[in-house]
Amino acid sequence: MPDPNGFLRYNRRLPARRPVPVRISDWREVYPPAGEELIREQATRCMDCGIPFCHDGCPLGNRIPDWNDLVRTGNWDAAVDSLHATNNFPEFTGRLCPAPCEAACVLGIGGGEPVTIKQVEVEIADAAVARGGLSPRPVPAPTGRSVAVVGSGPAGLAAAQQLARAGHAVTVYERDDAIGGLLRYGIPDFKLEKVHIDRRVAQLSAEGVRFRTGVNVGVDVTAEQLRAEHDAVLLACGALRGRDTPETPGRGLRGVHQAMDHLVAANRVVAAAAAGGRPDTAVLPDGNPIDAAGKHIVIIGGGDTAADCLGVAHRQGAAGVHQLDLYPQPPQARDEARDPWPTWPWLLRSYPAHEEGGERVFAVAVQEFVDDGTGQVRAVRIAEVTVEKRDGRRIVTPLPGSERELPADLVLLAIGFEGTEEQPLLDQLGVGRNARGAIDARPDWQTDIDGVFVAGDMHRGASLIVWAIAEGRAAAAAIHAYLGGTGTLPAPVDPARQPLAAR
Ligand SMILES: Cc1cc2nc3c(=O)[nH]c(=O)nc-3n(C[C@H](O)[C@H](O)[C@H](O)COP(=O)(O)OP(=O)(O)OC[C@H]3O[C@@H](n4cnc5c(N)ncnc54)[C@H](O)[C@@H]3O)c2cc1C
Ligand code: SF4
Repeated sequence: MPDPNGFLRYNRRLPARRPVPVRISDWREVYPPAGEELIREQATRCMDCGIPFCHDGCPLGNRIPDWNDLVRTGNWDAAVDSLHATNNFPEFTGRLCPAPCEAACVLGIGGGEPVTIKQVEVEIADAAVARGGLSPRPVPAPTGRSVAVVGSGPAGLAAAQQLARAGHAVTVYERDDAIGGLLRYGIPDFKLEKVHIDRRVAQLSAEGVRFRTGVNVGVDVTAEQLRAEHDAVLLACGALRGRDTPETPGRGLRGVHQAMDHLVAANRVVAAAAAGGRPDTAVLPDGNPIDAAGKHIVIIGGGDTAADCLGVAHRQGAAGVHQLDLYPQPPQARDEARDPWPTWPWLLRSYPAHEEGGERVFAVAVQEFVDDGTGQVRAVRIAEVTVEKRDGRRIVTPLPGSERELPADLVLLAIGFEGTEEQPLLDQLGVGRNARGAIDARPDWQTDIDGVFVAGDMHRGASLIVWAIAEGRAAAAAIHAYLGGTGTLPAPVDPARQPLAAR
């Protein structure tokens, strides 16, 4: 029985972030461990609602009130089990999820303060490590069936773990040199230190999952070979086709790059240093440098990717950073008429990177990347704009006379993703991208090709880690059924499931 007065006795409190000057001088995570006293206090605020709306916000169906109460009472081992019953990797979601569960928490009604669900989650996840709760599960009797998982992001890894624990022989193919998908070389260490991925890779390996890195399926191994070797294939290749702006004058100048070029290069430097290598500057695959040190940076875009570029730019020693957003500044509090509780609200989202410096500029669009006369960008010419939707299309109108220049030595395009990449694997399988650039799934997670399944961003379009894990778990359940496995595996979502929305 939870404490019925907990939320009256305690206000919502999060642990202090590490001081800005300290944290931008390294790549360590921004949040230090919270401490047991604070977490038990915050878990006490949970009312164990008769209808826990937090569940509806979370696609994994995390048993939030259960583990809140277990933490409140100091029952950490049971909390670890309860959390892992629905989530393979709570240390990822606890650190990185924007927490739709908190947006749906009953305590948030009318501008109230939701339970710090995500913080409780990450503390349970870390307690699992401290208490040996990440020990591999015993390998079950083999079913004799084998599954290829293509892509090692959270969707592929969640599916691989579920299937291996059901006794199937699972091989994860990853074209990169390390496992983790966007968690490895997209998301910077100040949000997720890579030791968390390494621990899970060790756990999955001990549970029988085989990892093959440096294998680009469709190039190094054909789809035909893959299908001949395995009884089922799961595609979990992400949605990594970055949106571009080819029509903007000056797009071809040196110094104008996709955000992922910057993030991957920076993450590789951090990874090399962690492995004992010599600290170096960030370089593109062609060897040219892409480093923010001493430069004026303009980041175009307002989401996670843009905020990650901002944090990286400051750690690399940028001279100044502007972050541009096409849309006007969102409100600070939920607009109940537009996004009523418990839906996900349109709000001004400030990430820890925003308190580290830089200037955010809203309601502007780039008119030109300006040449310094040598083919290198020297400025970005922007105009104030209005944006409206007409017949489903976005109409951007510049305000006459509002143009100005921002200095720019390096411009990073963080304007979203256009679905999964076109690649030989899809041609070989005969699987086509839909209008959103994603791969359609039938209700049983199969593509149009029998025995070929799809999950994560590749199916949903660029989304969140929590959705990738949920889809990986659900696709694993479908594959298990397809292979005639005994019993059923949990399937938290179906392919048509959408986030809570009022419209
Ligand atoms: C910069 C950035 C920051 C983000 N921050 C957050 C955040 O803070 N919180 C959050 O919830 N979400 C965040 N996201 C979104 C989140 O990372 C993704 O939704 C999630 O990683 C999708 O998981 P996935 O497994 O579907 O695909 P991915 O993580 O994209 O993994 C796909 C993998 O497939 C591999 N692959 C592709 N084709 C092949 C092939 N032919 N052969 C072998 N391997 C192949 C790729 O190399 C890649 O490793 C962020 C995204 C970006 C880009
Ligand atoms: S909605 Fe909030 S208060 Fe209610 S059970 Fe969930 S976390 Fe606890």
